[in-house]
Amino acid sequence: MEKKNIDWGNLGFGYITTDYRYVSKFTDGTWDEGEIVSDPNVVLNECAGVFQYAQTAFEGLKAYTTKDGHIVTFRPDMNAERLINSCIRLRMPTVSKEKFIDAIEKVVLANEAWVPPFGSGASLYLRPYVFGSSPVIGVKPAADYQFRVLVTPVGPYFKGGAKPLTLRISDYDRAAPRGTGHVKGGLNYAMSLYPIVEAHEEGFDENVYLDPQTRTYIEETGGANILLVTKDNKVITPKSSSILPSITRRSLMIVAKEYLGLETEERPIALSELDSFAECGLCGTAAVISPVGKIVDHGREICFPSGMKEMGPITKKLYDTLTGIQSGEIPAPEGWIHTIK
Ligand SMILES: *Cc1c(COP(=O)(O)O)cnc(C)c1O
Repeated sequence: MEKKNIDWGNLGFGYITTDYRYVSKFTDGTWDEGEIVSDPNVVLNECAGVFQYAQTAFEGLKAYTTKDGHIVTFRPDMNAERLINSCIRLRMPTVSKEKFIDAIEKVVLANEAWVPPFGSGASLYLRPYVFGSSPVIGVKPAADYQFRVLVTPVGPYFKGGAKPLTLRISDYDRAAPRGTGHVKGGLNYAMSLYPIVEAHEEGFDENVYLDPQTRTYIEETGGANILLVTKDNKVITPKSSSILPSITRRSLMIVAKEYLGLETEERPIALSELDSFAECGLCGTAAVISPVGKIVDHGREICFPSGMKEMGPITKKLYDTLTGIQSGEIPAPEGWIHTIK
């Protein structure tokens, strides 16, 4: 099989139309078997639930080539579980773990020519999503749904080294205590667009959202969880029921404990204690960890001792270990690497 003629190392994080996508339809109360199709366009009724009441949820994971030439994905069962929870909260039919994994395997194999080669730093980004496809005008769940998986090749996240980010404390809220912050729904992103565009205009890379009830604890950014390292090398992550449970963050906490022998803790983290930490990072599938150099709280600058030039030492160890596990260079915990081919 011949790979596409692409300059893999210089790809960005953008959508490129690939050859195939997966689609399964839910009608009369059941999912069909699912198939691979070539048309990248989705034709829906104008009144589809997804358009009118944003009934949709998504996932994000990557497929990549290991050193020994296998095509693998990282913990796809976790994405499947999270999508089930998102579907339940948005009153959509769930996609079983088996069906999810089957879809991932089929769409990656169909697009094998688009899976970047080992060593390029690039990967094939997979975007599974479910949405209400039949018309609704009175407020209620749609009757029919589609489960789709599109794929697009993405470049190495850090070209020429990871430059620490500058974040601001947001005046906008992301997710209410008993709302939908813990599910991966498009709805949480639609309302984050105004704050992120404003943050960029003001020279910040991301927004740190606070707990809306008291506005005294930090939660996460628009699309990534937060990790902090104390001055005595303890790895801490904020605890809150409205944070999206990042698979990368949960994996990094295991790596910190089991591979690096560090103490870990998930607990509420007050905005007022941020200046006591040694390192900070954002975690998610796209970058694994992006180092944070500075957080600005309305003019008060919190500068982490790791500085604005490079990742802090613990952040770097976490990053190197998890990316080593993902690429097959470091032995993975049981079940973390799912081999497709
Ligand atoms: C997807 C997402 C993350 C990162 O989750 P991963 O599973 O690590 O990719 C973090 N926060 C939000 C709000 C997200 O939507």
